[in-house]
Amino acid sequence: MQVLKFGGTSVASAENIKIVTDIVKQSVAKDKTVVVVSALGGVTDMLLRCGIQAASGDPDYKKTLQELIQRHLVTVKALLPITHQSSILSKVMQQCNQIEDICNGVFLLGELSPRTKDKIVSFGELISSQIISAYWSALSIENNWKDARELIITDSNFTKATVDFAQTDSIIQQYFSSENAQLFIVPGFIASDSHKNTTTLGRGGSDYTAAIIGAAVNAKEVEIWTDVSGMMTADPRLVSNAKAITEISYHEAMELSHLGAKVIYPPTIHPLLLKNIPVWVKNTFKAEDPGTVIRADAQRNGNIIRGISSINNIALISLEGSSMVGIPGISKRLFEALGNHSINVILITQASSEHSICVGINESDADLAEKAVNQAFSYEIETGKVNPLSVEKNLSIVALVGDNMRSHPGTSGKMFGAVGRNGVNVRAIAQGSSERNISAVVATADVKKAINVLHEEFFETTYKQVNLFVVGTGNVGSKLLSQIAQQVQYLQENLRVQIRVVGLANSRKMIFDEEGIDLTSWAEELAAGAPMTLSGFIHEAQNRNLRNSVFVDVTANEAVAKVYDQLFDKSISVVACNKIACSAPYVYYKKLKDLAREHNAAFHFETNVGASLPIIGTLNDLLRSGDEVKRIQAVLSGTLNFVFNNYNATRSFAEVVRQAQKEGYTEPDPRLDLSGKDVMRKIMILAREAGEEIEMEDISNTPFMPESCMQGSVEDFYKEMEKQEAHFQALYKAAEKEGKKLKFVAQYENGKASVGLQHIDPQHDFYHLYGKDNIVLFYTNRYPEQPMVVKGAGAGAEVTASGVFADIIRAARI
Ligand code: ADP
Ligand code: ASP
Ligand code: MG
Repeated sequence: MQVLKFGGTSVASAENIKIVTDIVKQSVAKDKTVVVVSALGGVTDMLLRCGIQAASGDPDYKKTLQELIQRHLVTVKALLPITHQSSILSKVMQQCNQIEDICNGVFLLGELSPRTKDKIVSFGELISSQIISAYWSALSIENNWKDARELIITDSNFTKATVDFAQTDSIIQQYFSSENAQLFIVPGFIASDSHKNTTTLGRGGSDYTAAIIGAAVNAKEVEIWTDVSGMMTADPRLVSNAKAITEISYHEAMELSHLGAKVIYPPTIHPLLLKNIPVWVKNTFKAEDPGTVIRADAQRNGNIIRGISSINNIALISLEGSSMVGIPGISKRLFEALGNHSINVILITQASSEHSICVGINESDADLAEKAVNQAFSYEIETGKVNPLSVEKNLSIVALVGDNMRSHPGTSGKMFGAVGRNGVNVRAIAQGSSERNISAVVATADVKKAINVLHEEFFETTYKQVNLFVVGTGNVGSKLLSQIAQQVQYLQENLRVQIRVVGLANSRKMIFDEEGIDLTSWAEELAAGAPMTLSGFIHEAQNRNLRNSVFVDVTANEAVAKVYDQLFDKSISVVACNKIACSAPYVYYKKLKDLAREHNAAFHFETNVGASLPIIGTLNDLLRSGDEVKRIQAVLSGTLNFVFNNYNATRSFAEVVRQAQKEGYTEPDPRLDLSGKDVMRKIMILAREAGEEIEMEDISNTPFMPESCMQGSVEDFYKEMEKQEAHFQALYKAAEKEGKKLKFVAQYENGKASVGLQHIDPQHDFYHLYGKDNIVLFYTNRYPEQPMVVKGAGAGAEVTASGVFADIIRAARI
């Protein structure tokens, strides 16, 4: 014998019932079959709504009732040939009249007792099972309809009754052994107490009905047919990459369902575990999918964790006090106070100091718990030994489940590391002594992020998602977007990273798309976007609360550089080619570095110096590995290098600068480069990274530009430079006469930094530096005479964009 249960979605419409029928036909051909069905999807909720509306004096309960009648009539008419409709239609109407009579009574009394609630909702399963039975009869599929209230006996705890297994098992065994039929259909969810009052087994209880019958008749197996292809590694509504679990042990399945995996009603597993009956979870709409089998000897697939689940609407109550240690029986009294008010305890943690006990309960019980506990400890609270109960709401439990955890150290480290990196604050932790689950209490607003982060950490061999918020679509920004577009596939296939640009803005507009902005048409989309406000953009980045969020600043804007702290506060990483933040006053630079560390966020700005050359990274590696920087000597301005490499007094200096600007090597205002100010910022950033507390004022700069060029607009600057051509020729000739080249050099040594034009002789490392290349010489303890050299293209939108891209990958900690 086998028991098949079909849930609400599986029987939601005539079309679906036909699919169910095909599955049942195949099953009956193999073995004697009991089919348990839910109410048509959504009907239980409608019935409840009807009762609640009536009880609150809302005459709209009649409208709800009409909807309900229509729903069933439409299904019957679509399912059965006209010739077979009349008998079932009159049965349906008769029962709908009964619902109406009850609701009229509820309306008059203004009261809906749990007993009446059960009576009302029971019609959902009663009617659905009768319609399906009539349909099968019309198809000449012989079947016995049996009222579950005659099979399952419970106590009188209406809305969630407890089964009397001794009675129930013998009734079920007797019924099925005395009947010869090959196919039975039974309404799920409903039962009766010893006075023949209708009871229910709790919401979602049709699964339980199947298990009760399956266990009683020693079924070969029980099949739970639903709308997903098995028990999944996480709730598929929260985690789009959740996968069906092939095999799972009874205990794991039980744990997952108790911790929120709605696919199986929690009490379902227990009776089947006792009889060692395998349970299949299958998809009605994808019957070919293998589904999940729940059984004792479930094979391990090499993964320590079997699934992740969550429960919302949790409150955390904490009893604390400095003198608690001295109060005898404190936990007993706490739990008694809760138990006396039927408050269900979901999670308990107690520090070994015994100064506090922390209990997770349903949020709906929180107010009652507060009253009850404060009353129970009123004496201790008055005398100051214990503080009044602290209650925190809007919390959820996130749990990892797996039998294998007990033999694998490090699971909780991995769990808390992953959520911590994403700024999810864990309020309480519990690990059962069975070590089959680790539960963490987090803010409900963080649940989706936490579950996805954990899913990526423990399951995803496919990819990790990185969510970018990019500001700036100029030279570098647009190159970055096209590089990302080009690499998306590669990163997904080779690094298992899925990069999404979720937010994009320039100075005028901003757009957002959690599925990822289309990088082939971002320009048009952005043009049609909302007006850009920096606060609005930051707000979106913070409030979307997405895992692995990285803010990318590809502007040269001061206001943007001032918001990094707000991002770090939410554990959002920052990648910037904008130099303003790191060259701001030292306190701000330091604050940002500290904040990033404190919130576990990455802060990368490799492109602040030498575009994508590994200069800051190299410096950091040297320091981290215990080396010490003695001296840095560098040519750090691609612009100045380009200009002095191309200027040989045959073309005007102004013309060469103009070319550099046209080719995109200069800052938007080239004077930032020519004044040496940009080089000062760069050497300062390097000095700071080397541990120096240094400000711009501490750097000496011997400018080579005539003062008159540095006033007015950029155009004035070009004009004035033309006029000063003789000055530039003289600079050039002086170096040429000595057989040397002009280079604008930055130096840092003994805590001092300087920048200025130098004559470089042919033996020097700087002499053969062409185009817009940069070079940095690090003299350290390990490299005292022959420095560590980093050299290469140090400017240009394409290389800068690629450096930003590399920082993004680094920030994602792949
Ligand atoms: P039925 O009406 O068939 O009983 P339910 O709605 O009660 O179906 O349960 C199936 C739903 O459970 C799925 O559609 C899915 O959204 C949800 N669910 C939550 N957690 C899980 C999980 N770990 N695996 C599968 N489904 C889950
Ligand atoms: N119809 C009931 C409910 O919605 C029982 C079930 O579907 O399992 O809770
Ligand atoms: Mg269900």
